Amino acid sequence: MRVQLRYIFLFVISLLSSRIAAADATLWTPETLPMVHLQDAHKWVCNPDGILSPAIVDSVDNIINHLNQEKGIEAVVVVVKRVEGGDCYTFGMDLSRKYGIGSKNYNTGLIVILSTEDRAYQILTGTGLEGTLPDAICKRIEIRKMIPKMKQQDWDYAILDGMKAIAQYIDGDDSLLKDNKNDDAEGGWAAIFFMFFFTFALFYLLILSRYRTCPNCGKKRFYATQQTYLYTQKRTDYYRVTYICSHCKHTENKIERRPHQDDDNAGGAILGGTILGSGMRGGGFGGSFGGGSFGGGSFGGGGAGGHF
Ligand SMILES: [Zn+2]
Repeated sequence: MRVQLRYIFLFVISLLSSRIAAADATLWTPETLPMVHLQDAHKWVCNPDGILSPAIVDSVDNIINHLNQEKGIEAVVVVVKRVEGGDCYTFGMDLSRKYGIGSKNYNTGLIVILSTEDRAYQILTGTGLEGTLPDAICKRIEIRKMIPKMKQQDWDYAILDGMKAIAQYIDGDDSLLKDNKNDDAEGGWAAIFFMFFFTFALFYLLILSRYRTCPNCGKKRFYATQQTYLYTQKRTDYYRVTYICSHCKHTENKIERRPHQDDDNAGGAILGGTILGSGMRGGGFGGSFGGGSFGGGSFGGGGAGGHF
């Protein structure tokens, strides 16, 4: 009887202490989470439960400052024990709406969240960053760099290695594009198949468009073999084009007109990458000791996340 009572007593004590331990972890909300960047423009890591070591926080801040200066990316890293609702995606989206992380014009915000006791993680990309850092790459970084460390409860290196991989990918390291692990093999094969198919179709169209119907033998084997520029008149270039049939060797010369190409016509196209590269310097930098601010960027739910 005494022994049984003792066990019941121990059981109740352990139940109470686990309750106390659970209550110990703050349920952070976007409202209560301290945004360190607002106090110090060079700091981006929210670590209110002290989960990350100070050295790792410094290293991650350095990575993000580099991303901010070089690419105009505003990145916030949140590492906590628990978030309200236990859902890092909702938490991150609410956080992005509250602070407008990322430049307003380019929407190059990035949020990385790890909630250790919820066993949840999330990478969120601003709408302007989704092309630079696609969801599939976010997922790959999580699978290869972060989740193995999270499972070992190595929170420091889950975050540091993940952020390094993100920065390296944005800096142009394409090793994550290589399918050397079958973590998302199906998507990979579909992409490869699509690329092959597309390339084939393009070549086929190019070859088809190259050939015309031969006026001599009627086969579609008549192609331009040589062209000579003649003159330009009324904004039209004139060429003499020699056609030959690869089937019957029938040859013809034709005069062809093409719209005159202006030299200043070449500019025009703005590639997605150029916008980032051309240096949106992000509004966040006041000075070494001053508080920062966020640019007002928006998020559309891009990124990847889950539970480990
Ligand atoms: Zn012919």
